[in-house]
Amino acid sequence: MDRSRFLRTTAALTLGTACSLSGCRPEHEDRTDTPPPGPQETIKWKLVTTWPPGFPVLGEGCSLLAGWIREMSGGTLDIRVYGAGELIPAMEVFDAVSTGTAQMASSAAYYWAGKIPAAQFFGSVPFGMNAQQMNSWLMAGGGMALWEHLYAPHGIIPFPCGNTGIQMGGWFRKEIRSIQDLAGLKMRIPGLGGKVLERAGGTAVLSAGSEIYTNLERGVIDATEWIGPYHDVRMGFGDIARYYYFPGWHEPGSTLELMVNKDAFEALPGWLKEVVRTAALRLHNWVLAEFDTQNARYLKQITSQPGIEIRRFPGEVLRFLQTKTREVLNDLVASDPASKEIHDAYFEHFNLVRDWFRISEWENYRLSFAEETGFQ
Ligand code: CA
Repeated sequence: MDRSRFLRTTAALTLGTACSLSGCRPEHEDRTDTPPPGPQETIKWKLVTTWPPGFPVLGEGCSLLAGWIREMSGGTLDIRVYGAGELIPAMEVFDAVSTGTAQMASSAAYYWAGKIPAAQFFGSVPFGMNAQQMNSWLMAGGGMALWEHLYAPHGIIPFPCGNTGIQMGGWFRKEIRSIQDLAGLKMRIPGLGGKVLERAGGTAVLSAGSEIYTNLERGVIDATEWIGPYHDVRMGFGDIARYYYFPGWHEPGSTLELMVNKDAFEALPGWLKEVVRTAALRLHNWVLAEFDTQNARYLKQITSQPGIEIRRFPGEVLRFLQTKTREVLNDLVASDPASKEIHDAYFEHFNLVRDWFRISEWENYRLSFAEETGFQ
């Protein structure tokens, strides 16, 4: 028996002994006391993604995940990562995991709005919960059970696997001074945010990532959102659009997902399931930390770039968009029972944590940003 296998077996036996002494029962059916299979029993999985190959943070994260799982499993679970289009087109990765063509996919739940409208609540809701609040809902407030239930008919187990944090409002070639400036505005903005813009008098234009720059340059669109400073700088939008608006009202904390084929996951021994769960959770943390750090660094770079003005959307514009968001959500829940159920759970939790955040996180932010009390 090699050392790592010995350690794993010993740890499992110790856990088993503690349980038998206290008379406790395992919390779930997964047993971790099964010795891992030998190296000859390598399990090969495919991880497909909606991200271009090597895409900063999100694509990089998939490679990290595969590496961590390979290391933790002693090479038993060997995962090969494919960027969007390398094996499966981006928007087909849900079906690929559902049918078992790939065992895993990295994406965002709101991409599946056409297939499962309620999935949007597990991505991001305009003016909704931020990353920390989403974690609270998903991991401790019952959100995960709803998400798992929603994907179960498709043979997919979802894991929260990263969050972009709040995004930027986007790049605009003209100023937004009032609600009237939204009328006729052609903007690349997908998902619920796009529906809200349409209701506010604008036009949401769908553009693939590779076409956005050209469309903005040629005036096919007047504005575009993308992610945040880190990714936006690389797209070069600052060369062709003067105004960089905040906040990203449409994506206040976009959760990323790792989808795993249910049959493939269930076939893993208990210890290997824990390896997958643990690696997903590690990536979940890493992604937000990376976004927050890189966005802060690149914001500094943008701030010093001549020809770019960083602006806040006027209050009346944000309040107007908020009203339109409520209308869009009301339409969604009226047309889809699953959306109604998940919407109600989402807002019940949002209201709950909002009361707490108002006197906790918000108060700390207020103090740290106030000029007179800014803490150095
Ligand atoms: Ca975005």
